[in-house]
Amino acid sequence: MGCLMNDFDRAPHILVSGGGIAGLALALQLVRSGVRTTVVERADAPRPGGQAVDLRGASREVAERMGIMPGVDRFRVHEEGMSYVDGEGNVFGRMSMADFDGEGAVAEIEIARGDLAQVLLDALQSAADAAPGLLDLRFGDRIVALTQDPTGVDVSFEHGYEERFDVVVGADGVHSATRRLAFGPEEQFATYLGGYAAFFTMPTPADLEEGWFAMRFVPGATFGIRPDREPATSKAILTFRMDRDPSLRGDRAGQEALIRERIAGAGWHAPAVLEALAAASDLYFDELVRIDVPDVANGRVVLLGDAASCGSPMTGQGTATALIGAYLLAARIAATPDDLTGALRRYSADIAPFAETGKQIPGGGIKRMVPATRFEAAMSRALTRVMFSRAALPLVRRMFSGGTSLPLPEVAVPVA
Ligand SMILES: Cc1cc2nc3c(=O)[nH]c(=O)nc-3n(C[C@H](O)[C@H](O)[C@H](O)COP(=O)(O)OP(=O)(O)OC[C@H]3O[C@@H](n4cnc5c(N)ncnc54)[C@H](O)[C@@H]3O)c2cc1C
Repeated sequence: MGCLMNDFDRAPHILVSGGGIAGLALALQLVRSGVRTTVVERADAPRPGGQAVDLRGASREVAERMGIMPGVDRFRVHEEGMSYVDGEGNVFGRMSMADFDGEGAVAEIEIARGDLAQVLLDALQSAADAAPGLLDLRFGDRIVALTQDPTGVDVSFEHGYEERFDVVVGADGVHSATRRLAFGPEEQFATYLGGYAAFFTMPTPADLEEGWFAMRFVPGATFGIRPDREPATSKAILTFRMDRDPSLRGDRAGQEALIRERIAGAGWHAPAVLEALAAASDLYFDELVRIDVPDVANGRVVLLGDAASCGSPMTGQGTATALIGAYLLAARIAATPDDLTGALRRYSADIAPFAETGKQIPGGGIKRMVPATRFEAAMSRALTRVMFSRAALPLVRRMFSGGTSLPLPEVAVPVA
């Protein structure tokens, strides 16, 4: 393991709020660099759940440089491609991963979000074992207040204690509390994108075509079943087009009622999806929002991952941007521990182009992804046939590459 810092007394102490993909990846790279790191995660344990996320281009290169590819390979989801089905389950459009050389909707490397978090957590634990005293991982707590001055940040925690850090990183997701406390209210940075998304694990229906991510358009909803690592289970994926309803936040019964109302009677495997919903222990349900923060560094507080920039799960780029950002931020902090505000400014500039392209939604957003009426559903089917043809290959490649096609900036990085 490489270590860019030798003087542990001078080494800064970084607080990372949020133990998702962004927070864990950053902590991993910081600990490897010899930087004292505290992670505070609101949930009581690592959060499972989420559908497959893909690694391609720059995010794959980052995963390789971080040395996590053996772990990723262990959990890899093997997907043949994506198909669209009608109410009887007949396929009317297909994009195979091989036909599109892993550059279409399904990439060569796909891993469930929860599994990727586990890979990062395992790597972090090994790095911490090799460098005792550098990592403090706290579950079930969160920041409630912070005040920064030119030499540090004073932080108050929900559990009633205070502590001072050199830098605070907000990696606490799309509804980031760190962003609210240090940058301003969520409304200042969030744009509602016209719908909601839900994901959960379900038993794989018996007659599902193995290895295929199948989707169905119905008025007001698009829902699909996506392969999981183990053939016995799959991920249900639902996207709804609707006005914003703040009362749905945290209301599991209300979320389930909406899902039932939207896909009851939708044919295909809708009954199996709804049967699994009630028992799902990993339901993820959130509004689709875009997050734009013009400068993600504010003195000694900095934002990372969805807290900093997000185009919603419709982009398929959130995890890639989070990994790239974590890698670059850790490298900047490790390179200039005596100039942390400069390090955060340099990271802010590094990540800006990746964040911008990572917010682009392939195919143009919810209106294309979720038809509102029967007529639009028919149009979506027709367009899908065209987009899933080989003639559309160059266009589809550009649509799905996002920020991952940009080259990584040159930064000094600790070796895994
Ligand atoms: C359970 C889950 C399932 C997901 N499923 C998908 C999916 O299927 N497809 C997709 O495209 N994207 C999904 N996402 C979003 C995706 O993980 C992110 O877009 C991407 O990985 C960037 O990660 P992030 O670490 O910035 O944000 P997140 O993965 O959202 O992680 C943020 C973390 O911060 C924690 N947190 C929140 N508030 C606080 C607080 N105040 N204090 C401390 N900790 C806090 C959260 O519990 C979470 O662990 C999911 C996110 C979660 C949490």
